Amino acid sequence: MSPKLVVFTAPSGAGKTTLVHYLLQTIDALAFSVSATTRPRRSNETDGIDYYFISKEEFRDRIDKGEFVEWQEVYDGNCYGTLKSELDRLFAQGKSIIFDVDVEGAKNIKRQYGKQALTVFVKPPNIETLRERLQSRHTETEHTLQQRLQKAIKELACENDFDTTVLNDQLDKAKSSALEIVQDFLYCPTNNPQKLHTVGID
Ligand code: ADP
Ligand code: 5GP
Repeated sequence: MSPKLVVFTAPSGAGKTTLVHYLLQTIDALAFSVSATTRPRRSNETDGIDYYFISKEEFRDRIDKGEFVEWQEVYDGNCYGTLKSELDRLFAQGKSIIFDVDVEGAKNIKRQYGKQALTVFVKPPNIETLRERLQSRHTETEHTLQQRLQKAIKELACENDFDTTVLNDQLDKAKSSALEIVQDFLYCPTNNPQKLHTVGID
């Protein structure tokens, strides 16, 4: 079986990190694509596990050397990107790869990998819930919270650009929807990602 790419995307706070961690714990064949970023490390994050935390100078230098599959300036002048070396490392292990990237990054990976990639949009029930989740995570200042909510409004309009949607209202339901979708994609070779339908939304 050739390795596949499973790309989770969503507005910040929708729950993609939570769902991606759950899938990594549940499906052995998956490995996480650790992105490079210039944003400061949070207290619960580990360099090389959650992200490769690098300086803006190093990020720029690596763009110039063509080392990224894709990258974006996502928030506040901070860049995030997928390194070619990271995908090579995981492909060499024979793993399928799961990504947590913003909507532009997800579209970019899909353009490059086509049917080898499945893009999954994680949808929050509404903006108010998104705000509450971001606040409960205690990672944002009032300024960065507003920034993320403003961007979320535009990102929510992109839902139809992806292969499928998981509604993350009740977490247990979202986990089982995500698991079903990803297992189908990894283990049913006849499945065409374009034909997957929205799960968890009536
Ligand atoms: P993202 O990676 O999309 O920014 P996170 O996975 O960090 O989002 O989730 C944002 C916050 O919301 C976290 O504190 C997480 O524990 C919480 N959360 C995620 N899903 C749910 C849910 N279904 N119900 C309530 N809280 C949730
Ligand atoms: P956070 O700062 O909350 O960890 O992430 C901010 C946003 O950057 C999230 O939407 C996350 O998915 C996105 N992101 C993380 N890594 C990458 C990456 O490699 N490429 C792109 N395009 N976005 C990323």
